[in-house]
Parts: sequence; C-alpha cells; structure tokens
Amino acid sequence: MEEDVVKVVEQQIEQIEKTLERMRNNSFAICEICGTHISLDDILVDPLLTRCKDHLNS
Ligand SMILES: [Zn+2]
Repeated sequence: MEEDVVKVVEQQIEQIEKTLERMRNNSFAICEICGTHISLDDILVDPLLTRCKDHLNS
C-alpha cells in the first residue's frame, strides 16, 4: 500500500518537473499534439495538462 503511494507521488513529481521544463522552453500550456494554447481555465484547474481538450484522450 505504502509503495503504491510512493509511486503515485513519484509520478506526480515527474509530471511537475516536466511542467517546469516546459515553462523554461516556453511550451507551457501548449498542446503537445496540435500546438494549440490550452485555455487558461483548464490550466488553472490542472496546471500539469499537456494536451488541449481535443487531444486529452488521444
Ligand atoms: Zn491539441
């Protein structure tokens, strides 16, 4: 059980590091599939989003 928690936290930290890297590369809040800006509303709900609504499930 505790190992699962550690894994989940590790994945979240990894996502945060990727997001920070995207901020440095000026690609934060830009869909990795189509290059569209992700809406501010969505980013505020989940700052770790890497895809727009159209590509969230693809
Ligand atoms: Zn997209």
